[in-house]
Order: sequence, then structure tokens, then C-alpha cells
Amino acid sequence: ILRVEKLNKFYAKQQILYDVDFSIAQGEVLALLGPSGSGKSTLIRCLNGLEEFSTGDLFFDGQKMVPTEKNWQQIRQKIGMVFQSYDLFSNLTVLENIVLGPIKVQKKSRSQAVQIATRLLKRVGLADYLQTYPRQLSGGQKQRIAIVRALALHPEVMLFDEVTASLDPEMVRGVLEIIKELSEKDNMTMIIVTHEMNFAEQIADRVLFLEDGHILENTPSKQFFVNSQTERAREFLESMK
Ligand code: ATP
Ligand code: MG
Repeated sequence: ILRVEKLNKFYAKQQILYDVDFSIAQGEVLALLGPSGSGKSTLIRCLNGLEEFSTGDLFFDGQKMVPTEKNWQQIRQKIGMVFQSYDLFSNLTVLENIVLGPIKVQKKSRSQAVQIATRLLKRVGLADYLQTYPRQLSGGQKQRIAIVRALALHPEVMLFDEVTASLDPEMVRGVLEIIKELSEKDNMTMIIVTHEMNFAEQIADRVLFLEDGHILENTPSKQFFVNSQTERAREFLESMK
């Protein structure tokens, strides 16, 4: 569904990503792992146009992405993204946060958008929070809303960048459960950046291991966690214990 070929990325003169090549199939879950500063966030931000890349090609459903702003806008509807910091609009209610995209970007009617929002909120156990403002929510609740907001656009791929990293431990599970359910029930295609190695092992079909902007491994997760191909990945896993 998504293919990346020879992607290189520079900030000023500093190279951040080197000839990154990989693809992800429909329904597949990819864990993108690697040390801090290895380029994980930069890479997934390149996939939906939040970062420009310097050279390389991106294919979505077999079609080469021509990086115009209009095309990126279309891609962003198909590739949803959730970050560590929830980025909800603090002056809008939960409901307004969620319906904004479907109404403004996808030109859905308000009643249609409200219907989608209500259904998704029910699903993540937050049906009673339609009229609540983000500041009245816990971190875990905010993150579930951020996921719902992305899902409301009916994306074909979801990108998660350390969505549990700033949550209290007791909030983490609820968010991870939702991601897991998306994979199992909806067969959602996902790329997940996480420091939760147990979760990555449970959910991922494959692991991309990134270090200093290079993909050192692209390995089925069964193999990666018990018998990584590279010394560096083994050291990394050891350090995460
Ligand atoms: P972490 O696990 O800490 O989130 P990461 O793997 O997501 O790390 P990135 O945030 O992608 O790493 O950063 C990769 C490299 O790019 C780092 O060396 C970082 O300093 C650099 N970098 C990131 N954003 C910028 C920026 N806006 N300008 C210049 N350099 C940047
Ligand atoms: Mg990051």
C-alpha cells in the first residue's frame, strides 16, 4: 500500500536519513524502532508530508507521489497520524475537534460527521465526553481522542509516533488496547514508533530498525526479538530491558 524508495533527508547540511527503502502491505503492522535521534520521527513525518525529503520516491497504492501541496492534502486523508503530544485544539470541544476534519477537508455534512464521531467515541469508551474540553481530560483520554480524530477521516494507513510516551503508566494500556484492536478487528495498516518493546513484539508483523538514519534491519518481528541479525539491534534491545 505504501512504498519508500531511496529516501534521503537533510536538515541544512546534516544528513538525517540515508537511502531509506521499505514497503508496507495492506493490513501489515510495522514497528519502527531505534535509539533516540536515529530519525524515526523524521521518517514517518516524511510519509505524510509534514517534512520534505531531499531525494527519493514515495508510492501510495502503486502510484508515485508527486509532492505538491494538493497531493499532500489528499495523502493526509489517507495516512492518519498521531503524535506524542496530542495536539488537540484546546478552545474546541471533543466533538468539534473530531468533526473539523471531516467537515472542512472532506466536505461531509455536519450530521454525518457527528455520527462518525459519536460512533468512534463510543468505541474508545468516551461517548460521554462529546462536549468536554481537552483541558478537562486525562492524558490517556486526550490521546484516545487524538486517535479518534485521525480515524474520523477513514485513513488507509495510521502512523503512531510514541503515542504513549508522555502518559502515566496506568494510562498506557488503554491506548495500546485501541491500537491493538485497530490491527486485529479493522486490519488497519500501521507504522508504530514505540518504546514499549513488549507491545511492539505483540503487535508488529515486521520491525524496521533504524540507527543514525540507516535502516539496519527489516526483519519479521518474531525473528527480530529473539534473534536479531545485527549486533546493534541486540544491544538496543538489551538497553530497552
Ligand atoms: P526520539 O526517539 O528521541 O524521538 P527520533 O528517532 O524520532 O528520536 P528524530 O526526531 O527523527 O529522531 O531526529 C533525527 C535527527 O534529526 C536528530 O539528530 C535530530 O537532532 C535531527 N532533527 C530533528 N528535527 C530537526 C530540525 N527541525 N532541524 C534540525 N535537525 C533536526
Ligand atoms: Mg521521535
